[in-house]
Amino acid sequence: YIYNAACTCFILVCIFHEDCWCYQPHNTCNDTCLGPEVWGEVYQQCNNRSQSPINIVTRRVLPDERLTPFQFIGYKDMFHGQLINNGHTVELNLPSSIKIKGGNLEVPYKAVQLHMHWGKEGGLGSEHTIDGEQFPMEMHIVHIKEEYTSLSQAKKDPIGLAVLGFFIEVILFKYLKKNHVSLDMFIPPQENLTKYFRYNGSLTTPNCSEAVVWTLFENTIFLSRKQLASFSQLRYSNGGEMTKTFRPVQPLNGRRVYHSRGHVDLVSPGLLILAGLVSSALFSHTTG
Ligand SMILES: [Zn+2]
Repeated sequence: YIYNAACTCFILVCIFHEDCWCYQPHNTCNDTCLGPEVWGEVYQQCNNRSQSPINIVTRRVLPDERLTPFQFIGYKDMFHGQLINNGHTVELNLPSSIKIKGGNLEVPYKAVQLHMHWGKEGGLGSEHTIDGEQFPMEMHIVHIKEEYTSLSQAKKDPIGLAVLGFFIEVILFKYLKKNHVSLDMFIPPQENLTKYFRYNGSLTTPNCSEAVVWTLFENTIFLSRKQLASFSQLRYSNGGEMTKTFRPVQPLNGRRVYHSRGHVDLVSPGLLILAGLVSSALFSHTTG
């Protein structure tokens, strides 16, 4: 993707409106946006050296005994879940009574939102990769330090955010449709969440702030191909298919990736109801 001089005014508009990035750029000037390779042109932090996502090379990860199991607080509490199409992905706002503790986090972190990254028609679409392997989908549960009131505050702190990442694989699974949900319906049983990877990185969308303590669980979530494909029905505001919503992996630049020494090896499917919520997001598109 190359942008030319005629697009310069667009770049300037970008700087002031701060929302002209995308995953797959269109190459015309009147309908253009910045793809991942050039996010750094407008959002300088995207060119920094501790970016996310990354490829995790499992033979190079370092065991770390301080990476104890998490305490998931409020993950069983029911709330009204409405998935919103924010113009880049679908997200579900979460009540701040939901918190995580432990896992070698310095302080408790409270939940803000969860969102997804996916491919096209049920193809590959995770952001992080394990030994070069991409998964069909990746779910991010975004938390900020308890003391902060907004994401923008948390972004200024190098460990202001804690994001829990879950890989999603494809399997035939019962379709559920609910509006009242609890967070533990989205993830594998908590006893299976003791094995995870840890590194320090960034937001995977502009402005790419390097403010994230990343946790990626080894246990995956299962979703049927049909459920996965339902995400491909989502549209951008210009009518384009909302597909391949992931940033390519970024260089490690000498960063270490750690692994908890959990010993649970069971893979047990998490109950996933997100696909049921997608239908509501199809009708609730907002821009920006
Ligand atoms: Zn994400």
